[in-house]
Order: sequence, then C-alpha cells, then structure tokens
Amino acid sequence: MALKEINVPPPEHVRVLDGQGWIGLLNCMGTETTIVNAARVSFGKMREEMDERDVVLLKYMLENQHTSPLEHVGFTFIVHCPLFVRGQWHRHRTWSYNEISRRYTEINLEFYTPPTLREQAETNRQASVDPVSVDQNTGLADIREHNERSLALYHKLLADGVCREQARGVLPQNMMTTFWATVDLHNLIGFLALRDSEHAQWEIQQYARAIKQLVAPHFPTLKEILEWDD
Ligand SMILES: Cc1cc2nc3c(=O)[nH]c(=O)nc-3n(C[C@H](O)[C@H](O)[C@H](O)COP(=O)(O)OP(=O)(O)OC[C@H]3O[C@@H](n4cnc5c(N)ncnc54)[C@H](O)[C@@H]3O)c2cc1C
Repeated sequence: MALKEINVPPPEHVRVLDGQGWIGLLNCMGTETTIVNAARVSFGKMREEMDERDVVLLKYMLENQHTSPLEHVGFTFIVHCPLFVRGQWHRHRTWSYNEISRRYTEINLEFYTPPTLREQAETNRQASVDPVSVDQNTGLADIREHNERSLALYHKLLADGVCREQARGVLPQNMMTTFWATVDLHNLIGFLALRDSEHAQWEIQQYARAIKQLVAPHFPTLKEILEWDD
C-alpha cells in the first residue's frame, strides 16, 4: 500500500495561528470511566459507566492531587507548528515525540507569518503586548522576504551538492514542522496549566487552547471540573 503524506490534518483537528498551524487528535486511549475505575482498583471493584458518585470521585481526585489514575488515559496528537513553538513544547519531558526530519526530506517547506507584530513588554522580558507601533504591513512583508531568501539559499546549497543536514541550518525559526506527541492525561493537564497561561507565548497558548477543544468532547465531566472554556 502507498505511503500517505503526514502533513495533512486528521479528521479531528483544530486550526490555529491564522490557519497556518493545526493540531489533530490521532488517538485517545481511555475514558472518564477509566479514570474512576483506576482509582477503584484499590478496592478491587470497577463500573461500566460513570454515575453521580463517580463525578464526585473524579472531582475529589483532581482537587486533592490523586493523579496517578489519570495516567491510564493517553492521547496522541499530531502538531503542525513553527520551530520556535516546537522548541517550547519539547521542554515537556513527560511527552513522547517523533518529528519530521529535514535530514530525510526537503519538500513541503512552509513558514509562519504572524498575523500581527507585537511589542516587547517593558517590565517582563519574556512577554509581549499588542500591537507594535510600526507599519505592520512593512514588517510582515520583511518577514516574508526573509523566509523566501532563506528558502532560496537552502535550495542553492542543495543544488550545489551540500547535504540536507547542513543546508537546513539556514532555515529560520518560523519554519513549520510536524510532530507526533503522546502524553498521559496527568501530564497533559500540567502542560495546559503552563501553556494556556498568559505567561506563555501567545502562539503556544493557541495550541494549548486547541488541545482543550479536542479533548473536551471525550472528557465532558473533566472539562466542567477544570472549568475549561467552550
Ligand atoms: C512561561 C514559561 C517560560 C519558560 N521559560 C524558560 C526559559 O526561559 N528557559 C528554559 O530553559 N525553560 C523555560 N521554560 C520551560 C520550563 O522550565 C519547563 O522546562 C517546561 O515548562 C516543562 O515543564 P515541566 O518540567 O513541568 O514538564 P515535564 O518535563 O513534562 O515534567 C512534568 C513534571 O515531571 C517532573 N519531572 C520531569 N522530568 C524531571 C526531572 N528530570 N527531574 C525531576 N522531575 C522531573 C517534574 O515534577 C515536572 O514538573 C519556560 C516555561 C514556561 C511555561
């Protein structure tokens, strides 16, 4: 059977970053019932479906850091994002990752152009405020031109016979990449607390919110308890 292209969002996906990025849910292992049943293993009992007492139990677990039952639920996402978002994401060591490699492929190169250029925050060195008071169109056109020049240099190096693993060094941080990311529910909640936060960079916040949209229909009680927005 022919190999399929992976740079295509799966059926369950959310587009982010002005439609330039996306995240898809490839696999979801377990349900809310899995979580409460895992908690009940200590009593040697299990239930087929959630009832009111299970909702109370789930709430108690989340409020009291009884988190190990959450580790029996897992997700695999496919993420299409700029390299700088990938760099932040991969700091989360409790996830497992596999990423497209520019040592193997030189096709489908895309670059992220932000919708708006934000101003550097004065007090917080890692924060930004919207929008910077330069001509936005000129700034964004400069970024696009830089992308095109980087790509042209990359192709020239390849045409000159330079290997892919060195030529890729001239590609900018806003190049899009694609990776699979697998995590259990406990560590996913930790990621969301850190990345759907005003302290995190705006771009990765958009992915964290998209994850909530993807996960919420599978875990509606959890969504209510954790007060995720619609
Ligand atoms: C707003 C923000 C700004 C940041 N700025 C920077 C920055 O400037 N520079 C920078 O380098 N990083 C920065 N980070 C990354 C940050 O330091 C963490 O690496 C990242 O958020 C992953 O968090 P984590 O370790 O909790 O996640 P995971 O790696 O998924 O780990 C989850 C939990 O598992 C445990 N754990 C995992 N690995 C270990 C280990 N080896 N030893 C002990 N316990 C472990 C810890 O309890 C940890 O909280 C920033 C993160 C955020 C959210």
